[in-house]
Amino acid sequence: MYNFINDKIISNLDKFNKNIVLELNDILNLDIIIRNISKILFCTKDIKFCDSCCNCNLINTDLNSNIFIINNNINNKYFNNSNIDYEKYIIDNIFLPTINFKFKLIFIYNINLLSNNIKNLIFKKLDKDVKYIKFIFICNNINNLNFILKTKCYLIKIDNYNINYNINILKKKYNKLNYKSIITSLRLSNNSIIKSYFILNPNNWIKRIKFINLLKSNFLEKKSLIFILNLVNFNEIEIYNPIFWLLTFILDSIKYKNNFNICIKNIDSINILKIISDLFSYNILNIILDKLIEYFYIINKNINIDKSFILIKNILYIESII
Ligand SMILES: [Zn+2]
Repeated sequence: MYNFINDKIISNLDKFNKNIVLELNDILNLDIIIRNISKILFCTKDIKFCDSCCNCNLINTDLNSNIFIINNNINNKYFNNSNIDYEKYIIDNIFLPTINFKFKLIFIYNINLLSNNIKNLIFKKLDKDVKYIKFIFICNNINNLNFILKTKCYLIKIDNYNINYNINILKKKYNKLNYKSIITSLRLSNNSIIKSYFILNPNNWIKRIKFINLLKSNFLEKKSLIFILNLVNFNEIEIYNPIFWLLTFILDSIKYKNNFNICIKNIDSINILKIISDLFSYNILNIILDKLIEYFYIINKNINIDKSFILIKNILYIESII
């Protein structure tokens, strides 16, 4: 499944003698990427990696003691004991020279979330060009990184924007779904193959079909949106949330009205977009859009707020103007 990412790593192999910053947009691939990079660097046989030598085997079984993964999430598998003094552990164990290998390989995920104490220590090691440590920093946006990291490391972007590759994988997995459904899922998830997997999963996809049917029978026929209150699960993340789907339909209808069809997300529902754009003026669509964005803005800013109140208030407002 991850051949595209492997290819990207392998094509940058010669850069791996430096410290590296990897920008990833799909962090669920992280385990595989970390393993592959480790094998590339420690394999004794092949230029890429052989997957059979002693070092490759140690990595496949998570037994190479010179590889460290510093994750800001204290509950990850390397530090699942909450009593451990995380910072002290890093300083005492990780930043010392290694005995058995040429270098220690340290993966640091989301360095911005580490304490200043540790960050400064890392910057010092980078500044001195310490040879016994190789750092691989993993982040989802290079722009947010410290200047020292940008100047001292080689930057590699691993994106998943190989659209045809993603389409082919999803088509194999969900061979009963049509092409437009697959494109829609990729556009809704900004081309994340992992998120598309979940969106297209039959249990989730059926929710979307139900949403679309209710949208037709309520919003398009009766200009009513109150049905959405029964569909929303307030704990669900954005891309599976009917309010988010509604927002994308309104946004797409505005694009459709402006003949701006290239960026439409709900490409599987063009007929609905056409009806919405015929039914409502540009002005009304913009007000609906504002109210939906306002809903997300308020609930994201105020964690303790009762989300259902805000939703009801905004939905009722929308109903009053359409
Ligand atoms: Zn090997």
